[in-house]
Amino acid sequence: MSYLAKNYNRKKISFVRGKGSYLYTANGIKYLDFVQGIAVNCLGHANPKLVKTIKNQSKKLWHVSNAFQIPEGEKLAKKLCQKTFANYVMFQNSGAEATEAAIKVARRYFYSIGKPNKNRILCIKNSFHGRTIAAIFASGSKKMTEGYGPKVSGFDHIKFKDSKPRFPNLRSKIKKNTAAIMVETILGEGGIKQIPDKCLKYLRKICDKKKILLILDEVQCGVGRSGNFFAFEQSKVKPDIVPIAKGIGGGFPIGAVLMNKKVAVGMTPGAHGSTFGGNPLAMAIGNTVIDIVSNKKFLNNVQKSSKYFFLKLNYLKKKYPTIIKEIRGRGLLIGIKLYKDQGKFIKKLMDNKLLTIRAAENVVRILPPLNVKKNELDQALKIMDRVCSELK
Ligand SMILES: *Cc1c(COP(=O)(O)O)cnc(C)c1O
Repeated sequence: MSYLAKNYNRKKISFVRGKGSYLYTANGIKYLDFVQGIAVNCLGHANPKLVKTIKNQSKKLWHVSNAFQIPEGEKLAKKLCQKTFANYVMFQNSGAEATEAAIKVARRYFYSIGKPNKNRILCIKNSFHGRTIAAIFASGSKKMTEGYGPKVSGFDHIKFKDSKPRFPNLRSKIKKNTAAIMVETILGEGGIKQIPDKCLKYLRKICDKKKILLILDEVQCGVGRSGNFFAFEQSKVKPDIVPIAKGIGGGFPIGAVLMNKKVAVGMTPGAHGSTFGGNPLAMAIGNTVIDIVSNKKFLNNVQKSSKYFFLKLNYLKKKYPTIIKEIRGRGLLIGIKLYKDQGKFIKKLMDNKLLTIRAAENVVRILPPLNVKKNELDQALKIMDRVCSELK
């Protein structure tokens, strides 16, 4: 009998300990964890540097109100701005909070320049921006919004097609009262679908032309996951607002909204707030994570691991053409689109001590820690090979 509400369909397994890429059950059974809390533990489990940081900071100071100066937060915000397009940062506790705050920044910007009616946000239908009331209506997915009426207004939806043209109805959906386009640079829950660089450039061009804002949700694909610090970097596109979360805390809940100078004018004292957001314990951890992950050598290594893994995964696809339909993704945000049933495949991988997780469109999502070792990738490939041969 469980007293937890039944809003999750949990696997019948629990873990007592983790180290790097591995998780251990109470009986000492070892699993290769390529879920990592859904792209959260970017440095694996119990990373020694993070353990040290949390130990040291927990003896000093955990939480103070945002009514006071928080030097650890100042430090992290400075690093985030110096390494990216951003001029200002606002800290939150989760991805949904960060995307909602991003929407608030966009609306408040137009309010502050005397255009309060410019407040609608254009999103991709069936994308994912979190599970709060506004965020579910932003994604517009029937599954997530069902039973949660009344509908939160203020969101319009465009289609994103894998086949050309990519945004078939974009122009007609931008109205006089549209404030921003908000999309995930790589759709995570939606099935690991990348928005190609040329499409990102096109979005930026249209936003500039229509004088609206571009919000790129990098909650899942950001913070090194794509092989660059941000997934949009390789396109050279500069967004106006970027919500992040998942990876930035390395397993500790942190969210943030990065914004440029132009849009930050709306964030006047009292315009937004969060009790927990940006507290000293969270910020100390965020500082350690970013020092490691934003390092060029570290990111080069993510790209190297990625290149190797994709090469081998594509061999696997060739070897099992009736099972694997497509290898998707970038960096260490990887999707295997199957012909066979996704659930059965994930279960079989788990029986063979490899943990993965589903995404939409019958995709198996693979999210190794960013510091994954080559022999761990090899181990995963061997397990996948075995499972494919069993399913053939
Ligand atoms: C996970 C995710 C969110 C929501 O994050 P939570 O921390 O679960 O609220 C928002 N956007 C994207 C792209 C995500 O992957």
